[in-house]
Amino acid sequence: MTDNRQVRLLIIGAPGAGKGTQAARIAERYGIPAVSTGDIFRANIKAGTPLGQQVSAIIESGGLVPDELTNEIVADRLKRDDVTNGFLLDGYPRTVAQVHALDAVLEADARRLDAVLLLEADTDSVVSRLLKRAEIEGRADDTEEVIRHRQEVYLEQTAPLVELFSQRGILVAVDGLGAVDEVSARIFGALDARLDARLGA
Ligand code: AMP
Repeated sequence: MTDNRQVRLLIIGAPGAGKGTQAARIAERYGIPAVSTGDIFRANIKAGTPLGQQVSAIIESGGLVPDELTNEIVADRLKRDDVTNGFLLDGYPRTVAQVHALDAVLEADARRLDAVLLLEADTDSVVSRLLKRAEIEGRADDTEEVIRHRQEVYLEQTAPLVELFSQRGILVAVDGLGAVDEVSARIFGALDARLDARLGA
């Protein structure tokens, strides 16, 4: 991947599967910005903006911010100049309604997704990872009860998206368990192959 073709990606997976860590690496490799809705919300909470005030209780409880609000934020973010040549969305879409909203935003500009990376990890592994992260980062939504709730929300609301993207033929599934570097190497191998095939390289 040394040329400057456009790459539009999503990373999807259970909370704790390592999306944020791998998203930063993928973004660097393909020279695209990683856009994380969770990071956007957390930055707003920290800065005490009206959006932050609106979403902080929801995020602390492990629930989902309403689709309409989340869709609006992402639609605005995808209008900025830095995503013209591609992007990696991390943590969005999380519901079927969000998929449809994203479809509309991309179609309006004749943009399309190249691949959806599914980072696979079983529930026990992700829960223990999140409990470890709680000790290190102290995120308000990393208490055990909230962690369990976030897993349930993922299974109910977000896991069905995997089948949807699979039907579209753009799903790339990678085992998210193991050392960070190993997982990155797996991801790069799988994504490079997919992007080369898709773009006819
Ligand atoms: P994350 O950092 O992706 O785990 O997101 C942290 C929290 O932000 C989630 O548990 C939700 O409360 C909220 N959030 C992030 N992305 C979304 C989204 N696409 N839709 C609704 N809520 C979201």
